[in-house]
Amino acid sequence: AKKQGRNNYQFYKKDYAAATQDRLLMELDLRKALEKNELQLYYQPQYYAASRTIFGAEVLIRWFQGSTKPPKMIPPDKFISIAEETGLIVEIGEWIMKVACLQMKKWLLADYPLKQVSVNVSARQFTDNNFLKSVEDALSQAKLDSKHLELEITESMLVGDIKQIELQLQRLKKMGIKIALDDFGTGYSSLSYLKSFPIDVLKIDQSFIREMTVESKDARLTSAIIEMGHSLGQKIIAEGVETEQQLEYLTHRGCDIIQGYFFSKPLPTQDMTNLLAKEAQR
Ligand code: C2E
Ligand code: CA
Ligand code: CA
Ligand code: CA
Repeated sequence: AKKQGRNNYQFYKKDYAAATQDRLLMELDLRKALEKNELQLYYQPQYYAASRTIFGAEVLIRWFQGSTKPPKMIPPDKFISIAEETGLIVEIGEWIMKVACLQMKKWLLADYPLKQVSVNVSARQFTDNNFLKSVEDALSQAKLDSKHLELEITESMLVGDIKQIELQLQRLKKMGIKIALDDFGTGYSSLSYLKSFPIDVLKIDQSFIREMTVESKDARLTSAIIEMGHSLGQKIIAEGVETEQQLEYLTHRGCDIIQGYFFSKPLPTQDMTNLLAKEAQR
């Protein structure tokens, strides 16, 4: 038994060392990813539930790590946490905001029927002293009206210095930017946050949608979230919608906006532009 234990330990140690090294290598590569143009923004279209016409797009980052051909696509779940821990997310986040605003402006100038882009913001960015200024800069550089920008924050960010967070959100609101609460229903926060924070939009997490067969608990919770949000004057977005049945249920319950593979996966810029050109013909 003793021997077995030691082997396990050796095994674990080796695994752990390998994992640590992978992480370090990734961190080093990520530092160069921006200057090497390896980061790209994808856009996932969002549709009005009732009319099934386009409303907006969520901005989702992709990393095409360049040493191999074709480059290896690293999904955000694999590197955003590293970017957060190292603080790199501040620089990367500013770049995302800038590119997203410029792209939205281009689509508006082309008269495409898109109301807004929605950008994910991580906790580290949000609490950075320079955050508001960097958002202002991105908007003014692109000459983009703030009504075309939405920021997605998560419930897990609404802990800590509540007064400070409230102030930050109010400043963004004053600038005319909309705030969406992402992954709603999965965080640790209590409903009382909805009372104190100026949240314009609730995004119902995909985990509710996935198991939402008619009359299941998830379906009832989803309807309850829609009703509650509406009574607070919020817009409701369902994400992870993959089937016609899910779409119909959500539409029937009054959900405003639909995002998910049923309509489209996240698209690279050119594909999103093509999709918008088609939508403009409708
Ligand atoms: P999220 O903000 O909750 O984004 C939604 C995720 O669900 C995206 O994964 C999207 O591709 C995926 N998704 C959309 N529709 C469907 C569907 O119908 N079915 C399924 N199974 N999945 C769907 P993605 O792009 O891999 O992003 C993962 C997470 O990484 C995001 O979750 C977000 O937390 C983070 N992230 C992505 N881009 C950024 C960014 O630019 N900045 C920051 N701070 N975080 C980002
Ligand atoms: Ca999001
Ligand atoms: Ca989400
Ligand atoms: Ca998520």
